[in-house]
Amino acid sequence: MAKAELMNYEQALEQFEVVIGLEVHVELNTNTKMFCGCKNEFGNEPNTNVCPICIALPGALPAVNKTAVESSIKIGLSLGCEIAPNGRFARKNYFYPDLAKNFQTSQYDEPIAFEGSLDVEVPSGKVHTVLIERAHMEEDAGKLTHIGGSTGRIQGAEYSLVDYNRAGVPLVEIVTKPVYGAGAEAPELAAAYVRSIREIVKGLGVSDARMERGNVRCDANVSLRKHGAEKLGTRTETKNVNSLRSIERAVRYEIQRQAHILANGGTIIQETRHWHEDKGATSAGRPKSDADDYRYFPEPDLVPVQPSLELIEALRATLPEKPADRRKRLASEWGFSELEFRDVVNADLLDQLEETVAAGAKPQAARKWWMGELARIANESEEGAVPNITPAQVAELAKLIEDGKINDRLAREVLAYVLAGEGSPAEVVAARGLEVVSDDGALIAAIEAALASQPDVIPAIREGRMQAAGQVIGAVMKAMAGSADAARVRELLIEMANK
Ligand SMILES: [Zn+2]
Repeated sequence: MAKAELMNYEQALEQFEVVIGLEVHVELNTNTKMFCGCKNEFGNEPNTNVCPICIALPGALPAVNKTAVESSIKIGLSLGCEIAPNGRFARKNYFYPDLAKNFQTSQYDEPIAFEGSLDVEVPSGKVHTVLIERAHMEEDAGKLTHIGGSTGRIQGAEYSLVDYNRAGVPLVEIVTKPVYGAGAEAPELAAAYVRSIREIVKGLGVSDARMERGNVRCDANVSLRKHGAEKLGTRTETKNVNSLRSIERAVRYEIQRQAHILANGGTIIQETRHWHEDKGATSAGRPKSDADDYRYFPEPDLVPVQPSLELIEALRATLPEKPADRRKRLASEWGFSELEFRDVVNADLLDQLEETVAAGAKPQAARKWWMGELARIANESEEGAVPNITPAQVAELAKLIEDGKINDRLAREVLAYVLAGEGSPAEVVAARGLEVVSDDGALIAAIEAALASQPDVIPAIREGRMQAAGQVIGAVMKAMAGSADAARVRELLIEMANK
């Protein structure tokens, strides 16, 4: 794949206005699928969660999953949407090799939720109001695995395998209206919007919301137009981007790619595009016109969805606090500065910090470990993934420090063993004997040994020159390979000087 020519980002923004639009698919975590009783479970043996309905055997009739409808209504209400009193499913006719029916059961002109909005904060602290056009229910397709090619894509593959376990899993697709006015922050806004959606569905408990498993995936539409122009430019739709970082990069890339083409008199082809994380680039998918004729028609096998006002109000009463309210509450509970808090949000570590504090750590200690050593380890790993440690283990590590059982240096060592799978921090400390030495006898012996080569230190301390103590403390720490309790060494030294 040849990398396209790109315009410098600042230059692109000087010449063009960016308009984005986002479609987010959320996989619901119902026990069963959207229209049948098969298990909705990730990671099972291929083609074990299937039945005549989800593999479309003749005569099989679907029925709507009540929990999926309720989850969809909750999502709609959380986005400030109206809920349709009467909504129908529709058939979207399309050949999907991994959806055996040859159509997808979706919603077309009667989505369950419509006309909402979501306030989204970008890293600069600015809040953008993103208008929501609709949220509709549909079913997921199965999964194809292409065998024999070098890239895992269909091109060059010898054959493909299909797993229908995911076929029929309930999805909610949330579609924004065109988003104007984000300017240079459009890529950050796209990522922050998806993060907010993820927070909402996770807070509602209606989705596992794990992007790496495809529970939340984003199609990002990008178009450019000359400043002041009324007509929207031709857009491209980058499909199924599945990490926040990739969304930001993909939008930025499309802005630069399209700007280069337009500035050189070219035209943008309306098409879907694929994002390649490794190359940091998008490539052309299939052409897509506004007039794609999916020959939608009302699904004759399903009755309309008609939630009563009582049901809608009962669901509204169960909504948890909004993400923006949760942030305000946590920021004030934790007492972080605005910058400290925003850094945590932007590092996508809010959940981890909240759980670590809930497990008993002080907020600043939780922040220090997640934003410091653990972030460093994550950055150094190939995938940039969050290290394999639980918030409870981080809280345990912080507690060991707070109780003086280990110091910072030992804690980093303990952490490395925890990440290597040797157990919890307390187990590692016990198994490897990594506790700080605060046994006075051992410390006094080490101090005396250090003093033997530095006889001036005691008289200096007696004269009140405390900086002299530093050399002895340093020597003791060195002699005991960092495991001495430095504060206790200092106390003992002062006691010895004052005898
Ligand atoms: Zn089934």
